[in-house]
Amino acid sequence: MDIGNRKGEMRLRAQHAMTKRILVVEDNPDNRILITDVLSSLDYEVLVAEDGEMGLTMARAEIPDLILMDLSLPKVDGWTATKEIKANDSLAHIPIIALTAHAMVGDREKALKAGCDDYISKPIDLRELASKLMHFLG
Ligand code: MN
Repeated sequence: MDIGNRKGEMRLRAQHAMTKRILVVEDNPDNRILITDVLSSLDYEVLVAEDGEMGLTMARAEIPDLILMDLSLPKVDGWTATKEIKANDSLAHIPIIALTAHAMVGDREKALKAGCDDYISKPIDLRELASKLMHFLG
């Protein structure tokens, strides 16, 4: 392999290593598709979990760079999943943005109390989502 090709390969690897991985924990299929499409178009790698239990399993196994956490979820709700992640020393550093279904102040406060770093109200404003991702992931 000549040096030119090798440099190109190294550049590709470096770019891949910098790709941020976001775990989306969301039980609503339409929201999952919408969020996955948006994150992919922003060049994030997307991991998907359909309930809180799967979200916890994937968080532990994959250690994503950020988690988008729906709150109302089957099996384990988003508040409980967030508390468990934030109580785990190897996961506590992961920023968690709650997706709050209702514009309910109580839900947001509960999300922040559970350890969420921020929240976004549904219906999701895609510009707000992109700017919060930039804030946490740089
Ligand atoms: Mn839900």
